[in-house]
Amino acid sequence: MNTINRMDIDQLATSQLNSINQRYTTNRRKIIGILQEATKPITINQILESNSDLAQSSVYRNLAVLEQAGLVVRIITNEDHAHYELAEHILDHHHHIICSPCGEILDFHLSAKIEKALEESLQKIADEFGFSIDRHRLDLLGTCGDCTE
Ligand SMILES: [Zn+2]
Ligand SMILES: [Zn+2]
Repeated sequence: MNTINRMDIDQLATSQLNSINQRYTTNRRKIIGILQEATKPITINQILESNSDLAQSSVYRNLAVLEQAGLVVRIITNEDHAHYELAEHILDHHHHIICSPCGEILDFHLSAKIEKALEESLQKIADEFGFSIDRHRLDLLGTCGDCTE
């Protein structure tokens, strides 16, 4: 569910990369495009599979730069292969279902009503700690249907 179009993403990417003295190169644009097309967080191998003229070493390097620029986020799981997706200000706010045995990650959205209730509860906790919240993460860890069978 993309809330902003490709032209806006290109503008955002250009300015966020410029702010860390990096350019929006052709390969970086390709990687952003692949992540935009993907319906869930994907691994470096899946990025390589969707574009055969990208070299593995350049994908590694470019993902690190895109991450540094705040355009791409890496989802931490307990398996070996990191998954990447576009940052929430590009994609939208969502949560993850992470299968521990197979490493599959799916996105899910909570209703606006539940998000609001969650925000309010979290705000109370933050207040107790004198903490100011930028955003929250909530991922479900467990076993998917395929791995349970
Ligand atoms: Zn996600
Ligand atoms: Zn949320």
